[in-house]
Amino acid sequence: MAATLMDGKALAQTVRAEVARDVAALGVPVGLATVLVGEDPASAIYVRMKREACAEAGIESIHHELPASTPEADMLALVEDLNADPRVTGILTQLPLPEQIDEDHVINAIDPMKDVDGFHPANAGFLFQGRPTLVAATPSGVMEILRAYDVELEGARAVVIGRSNIVGKPMALLLLAEHATVTIAHSRTRDLAEVAREADVLVAAVGRADTVTAAMVKPGATVIDVGINRVDGKVRGDAADDVREVAGLLTPVPGGVGPMTIAALLRNTVRAARYQSGELAFPLA
Ligand code: NAD
Repeated sequence: MAATLMDGKALAQTVRAEVARDVAALGVPVGLATVLVGEDPASAIYVRMKREACAEAGIESIHHELPASTPEADMLALVEDLNADPRVTGILTQLPLPEQIDEDHVINAIDPMKDVDGFHPANAGFLFQGRPTLVAATPSGVMEILRAYDVELEGARAVVIGRSNIVGKPMALLLLAEHATVTIAHSRTRDLAEVAREADVLVAAVGRADTVTAAMVKPGATVIDVGINRVDGKVRGDAADDVREVAGLLTPVPGGVGPMTIAALLRNTVRAARYQSGELAFPLA
């Protein structure tokens, strides 16, 4: 039987409406600063979508565009200004950055309370400790999809393919926090197919089309396809087409994880504003 597709687009609309209500009820201004460096077309599209989502939710969007040649010192100076600006309650620096700018230096410079991407070591560390603060948007959005479709996680076998700091690792920690038995697979994993086939919940975050094929999926498993790959002018995920014939639930690409990433970013932006207003206590403050 063909998999049921998990409609991230519809769910994201519901979340975005909820965020708009939260913003209106908050009583303090919410402002997201976005910083785009250089002219990478995919990055420009992502930033535009995030800004549009902010506008729709009543969040002020404060946008900065810098040339690709920007020295690291200028980028860090801008982050310091944004940290100090009370209008700015959230900061997002779109990755990747040009090679002369060390991404870690920039991430570490962002005030952890304004770190809506959840990439700062303080926020990553709180997630590691099991007391999440601002959590990376993509894995957060995935958890919201899993909840919306009542996917049982307690005691389930979960396999995450990919170990990046922004998707794979936080994804694994969030699944662990819901009491799944979690395996992280990666480029050096031996016999990926055998590992993947054990999963009740399989998350693919690799960035290569057709990484996950039907033969790697346990019949009836939930498959979350995080991958975004451009193949012959089309956007495709990491899962091959035949995965639909085996999975029980599957996120489509596009229309699955992508829209929920933006929705989760908006949730983080509201949470960051609550930290700054004092409504929520930030553990480091
Ligand atoms: P990344 O390149 O940092 O990490 C990829 C991971 O895949 C690595 O940990 C690597 O070990 C693993 N890998 C590579 N080849 C492999 C193989 N043959 N077998 C098993 N594992 C392998 O990428 P990332 O930033 O984590 O993103 C992963 C994918 O998710 C990309 O396609 C990216 O575009 C997409 N993404 C989507 C969203 C969204 O909103 N939908 C958000 C972020 C990233």
